[in-house]
Parts: sequence; C-alpha cells; structure tokens
Amino acid sequence: MLWGNSSCRLRTQIVMTFEPVVQTIVPGKVAHFEMGGVSFEIVSDGAVVSGPPEKTHPHADAGYVNKILDNHGLPHDRLDFAANILIAESHGSRTMFDAGLGPVSNPPAWGRAAGDAFHNMRIGSIHAPDRIALTHAHGEHIGGLIDEIGNPRFPNAEVYAPFEEHAFWTDPIRTGPAWAFDCGLARTVFSAVDKNLKLFASDPGLKDSGVTAIPTPGHTITHTAYRIKTEAGDVLHFGDAARHSILNVVYPEWKFVGDFDPVQCVCTRLRLFEDAVRTGALVFSYHWPFPGIGHL
Ligand SMILES: [Zn+2]
Repeated sequence: MLWGNSSCRLRTQIVMTFEPVVQTIVPGKVAHFEMGGVSFEIVSDGAVVSGPPEKTHPHADAGYVNKILDNHGLPHDRLDFAANILIAESHGSRTMFDAGLGPVSNPPAWGRAAGDAFHNMRIGSIHAPDRIALTHAHGEHIGGLIDEIGNPRFPNAEVYAPFEEHAFWTDPIRTGPAWAFDCGLARTVFSAVDKNLKLFASDPGLKDSGVTAIPTPGHTITHTAYRIKTEAGDVLHFGDAARHSILNVVYPEWKFVGDFDPVQCVCTRLRLFEDAVRTGALVFSYHWPFPGIGHL
C-alpha cells in the first residue's frame, strides 16, 4: 500500500509492513536480544483495550478497516494493544523506557489486563533500571513508577521526562472527569519520584548510553521518541506515535481520536517511519504485539 498525504508526505513512497523480530522469550513474557554491544530486554506489562475502530478511527472507511482486521483474524468490536517496556543496557548503565500501568486502578473500559511489568521483571530475573526515560505521561506508561503504597518502585533510578509533558499533566487547571485519570495519576506519580526527577527541554543528557530523544508531538504535546545507538545500527523507540501495528502501518495517515493532535501525530508518524526505513533502524513500539520490535 502506498501512503502519504497532501499536507505531510513522505519523500519516498514505501510499501510498508511490520516484520516482527522474534527473540528468546522466557516465561512471564520477557524477551532478550543483543545488538552492537547493547543488551536489550523487553518486559510485557500486559495489554490494554480500546475501540471499536469506528470510534477510535472515525475518519477511516469502516468497511475497509474491518476488511483489514478480517485479513489478520482480528475482531471488529475492539482494538487490543499490547504494552511493552524496553530496557537497554550499555556501558554498565540500564535505561528503561516507560514503566507500565503499575498497581493503579485504570479506567474500567481498559479491563484489568496491564500492570504486570514488575511481576514479569521479578520472575524473568530482570534487574532494576538505573534510569527511566518517559515517552509521555499517560497513565499506562507512568503508573509503574510507584508501588502499591505509592512509593517509588525503583527508588535508585533517575526519571527523565520532557519538561512540558510534566507541566501539562500536573497543571492544576486540568480538572474534571476527562482529566481525572491521567492528570490525577501524573500528579501522584511525579510527586512520589520528585527527588529523582530529571526534567529536560530537548536533550535528556543520556548520550553516554547512546540514547537521544526525538521530539515527536501529536499523541501528547511533547510526546518523545528515543533513538538508541548501537555499533550495529539504531533502535528507534516509537512510544505511542504509532499505536497499532497493522492499521497505523498500512494507513499511517488515519487519525486516532486518542491523540492530542491527530493531524500532528500523522506527520510525526510519517517522519518516524521514514527515518526507520531510511536508516534501517530496528523499530520498537510500546503497543505493538509483544515483543513489539522488528523492521518496517
Ligand atoms: Zn500508550
């Protein structure tokens, strides 16, 4: 399928599919792989549910969406999203990207299918991170920063977040039901990890681990992707810039109602996809089927 749109077009038109890279998987849904001197682990936090597609992707042709879902044996009444946490260890430092839902009570519509990361880390013998870099501050990405009694889950880890992302979700001006879950949780979590919080404008200062931030606004106002450099090429962490491994890849220009700025998110997605294809980077996406890593 060729893609691109009038306002935000790829310089190169590409036939796009996502080819997962299957790695050694141990019980509890933990995957490991080595690449160019960097050791990677992926921990499953479980899954979250949204949909149905006609509500999440209202601008897409519903009949065509359902046909695509049929071709992949997927239901029409909901969209299932995995939740995957990437950990990269290089030069003796372990950087974890996002933290999962944690022990918090999520909105009922999600079911209770996420929040498994810490359990999976324990049974998979995964060590605690030294640093945690956040892609954005939605609840299923930051709730795992705290434990059942509200203390930091990883008390020795520095927590890196974009300055404006932190400011947006903790701003007391945001009240009411629409903001209650994400803003309430952000205030609780950021307050709990305040001592270790490192807010950054554009550069988190993690280059010593080969990690750089890529501003990727759209899903949230300062959503951030990350590039992890290895001696054998890069890994590109998309965060939530491309939530669905099929719909967002076949038609990246389809807008998702859960994005803060859906049009901007489309442009961001196209830019990231082009980067990945041009550089041959391995891509990782938080919500793609576990382990969420492969090639475009
Ligand atoms: Zn998400």
